[in-house]
Amino acid sequence: MTTAHNALANDLTPKSAPAILEQLVQQAEHAGASDIHLQSRGKSAEVSFRLDGVITAGAELPTEVAERVFGRIKFLARLKTYQETLPQDGRIAHEELKCHHDIRVATYPTVTGEKIVLRLFNQATAQSLEELSLAPGARTEMENFLRQTTGLLLLTGPAGSGKTTTIYACLRHLAKTGGRHIITVEDPVEQIIPGTMQTEINEAIGLDFTRAARHLLRQDPQVLILGEIRDEATAQLAVRAGLTGHLVISTLHAGSCKGVFERLLSMCPDHSAVASAVELVLNQRLIRKVCTACDGTGCKDCLHTGFNGRVPLIEWLRLDDSLRAQIRRGELSALAPKQMLAAEAQSLVNQGVTNEREFKRVFGL
Ligand SMILES: [Zn+2]
Repeated sequence: MTTAHNALANDLTPKSAPAILEQLVQQAEHAGASDIHLQSRGKSAEVSFRLDGVITAGAELPTEVAERVFGRIKFLARLKTYQETLPQDGRIAHEELKCHHDIRVATYPTVTGEKIVLRLFNQATAQSLEELSLAPGARTEMENFLRQTTGLLLLTGPAGSGKTTTIYACLRHLAKTGGRHIITVEDPVEQIIPGTMQTEINEAIGLDFTRAARHLLRQDPQVLILGEIRDEATAQLAVRAGLTGHLVISTLHAGSCKGVFERLLSMCPDHSAVASAVELVLNQRLIRKVCTACDGTGCKDCLHTGFNGRVPLIEWLRLDDSLRAQIRRGELSALAPKQMLAAEAQSLVNQGVTNEREFKRVFGL
């Protein structure tokens, strides 16, 4: 446990639950954290922050304090305060916590007690395509794609690899250019983009991605942003939409550009349609930047992690006639992306933007 966190815990204990919660959220905002984790562990509850994608060591709150804070969170998120045995999801508007971010609340019963994750929706750092620090080649490919009127862009990468930020940057780019009817189906909507029609799925009432998208296509969109392709029906719908005069952007779980095709082809029996519809595939990671205040040795600014901020790494595959022909023949081995992730990361290590330790963490070495 870091000194910063100990100080946080000592500072919090004597306060009222509303004051503790406000202070926790403000502290997280100040540190630039994306999530706050609160985990009950018998005699105490552990509080930790997710900072630049990595969970920092936690502070501890005595159980009686934690119980009041958990109750306060559920109250503000309009959840059942007595319910501890089933997961619940809710939201808290930023005004209610005197902070800058709207917050998504997710509770889950674990074997040691209840776990609550607060996700801070990041309006303040909303970025445009120009501000994403993408490699120039990746940015050009994306801008070229966004000028088109049909076709499919698929983005992959593990959870927390910045896919949502990239999609919002595309969305903002399209809204700024104007002249097109843009519809989104998201889970959940994290940022409001003026000039677009944003919708949210609601599994509880059976409104999933497929059903929402099927109805929304009758709203005559020119651009359709689908939060995620999770099943065959959504995959086939996305491919069909991309072939019938819509620009479609979505994400799909796979570890590589080639993996995107493997999954998509396994979900769509019409391989020729897939080969025709897909225009661009992006595989993204985020790598942490060495803290410039301490040169990576650890300081107050970076909560002693040695890192501050992240940059995206992107490799991409732009389909041309010869690749389309290979996909139709089921020859996927040649689907190698233009810029390998590791090569791009190594060049950032050489420039001193990041370091070897972070390189190994991102690539699981
Ligand atoms: Zn530092």
